[in-house]
Amino acid sequence: SIPLTFFAGIGGASKAGILIKGGNFLEALHEVDTVVFDKTGTLTKGFFEVAETVAMEGFSKEEVLALASSVESHSNHPIALSIKRASQASQKVEVSDYQELSGYGVSAKVEGRIVLAGNAKLMKEQGVSIPSGMSDETLVYVALEGRLAGYLILRDEIKPEAASLIERLKNLGIKQLVMLTGDKKESAQKVAQAIGITSFEAELLPHEKVERFEALLGARATQGKSVFVGDGINDAPVLALSDVGIAMGGVGSDAAIEAADVVIMNDEIGKVATAIAIAQKTHTIVW
Ligand code: ADP
Ligand code: MG
Repeated sequence: SIPLTFFAGIGGASKAGILIKGGNFLEALHEVDTVVFDKTGTLTKGFFEVAETVAMEGFSKEEVLALASSVESHSNHPIALSIKRASQASQKVEVSDYQELSGYGVSAKVEGRIVLAGNAKLMKEQGVSIPSGMSDETLVYVALEGRLAGYLILRDEIKPEAASLIERLKNLGIKQLVMLTGDKKESAQKVAQAIGITSFEAELLPHEKVERFEALLGARATQGKSVFVGDGINDAPVLALSDVGIAMGGVGSDAAIEAADVVIMNDEIGKVATAIAIAQKTHTIVW
């Protein structure tokens, strides 16, 4: 039978906006020594601002932004939503053959012409040459018929409570803190440094996040439980694989909320530490 205090722990968590899907997860949370984070939408707001549009010769900024928003029209990725918000172009264009290339970007035919929007990896894979020595921010390259039309500089904000969360987790005895992201190395490094995570891996495709997570658990000296915290966009498989998968309930996809063991209702990342603290306190009372 489940001790009564488990209900108290789950009830207390739920009052704090943390949904724990069972007493076993509360117990596992008490034994956690490894916490792995997704970056975009988890440690950062995932609400990008298009800070700048850069057009290559032969294109205008408006054209670049309009092409980007057309090719992104079917995507729900936070990057796509930001581009659509920024674009003023409301004229209906015909978009066909749409493909979401998870971890890379999107491709489609816009008025019959092939348009790509995505990261440097996508451009490289598709044989589109891009300038070198680019900024450390998140960039979305836009290509038309195999040629670079321009790029967008996107700015995301770190959640204000992310740094104090890392501090609290260290104080709660968490030994290993890691960030895994599909974003590029330079923007990952900026976030990791700002919040105090020393270990991170970037430019990971969704399946590589799973592989890196497994490798990380295999290489540990300690035997505690593992937590993965994500927003569920391209990380539902890792959420399912971890001992305790924690998803953001606000921005998270339905699939993520389904795959998760713990759901943070209002995306306040600080509640990851609150959940572990409640688990530790509940444990003290039970045993
Ligand atoms: P994260 O691991 O940081 O949450 P994702 O795995 O969702 O990131 O995406 C990784 C990278 O793939 C993004 O940083 C972006 O460069 C590119 N990308 C993914 N989806 C899109 C999209 N719809 N449009 C443009 N770029 C995208
Ligand atoms: Mg994400």
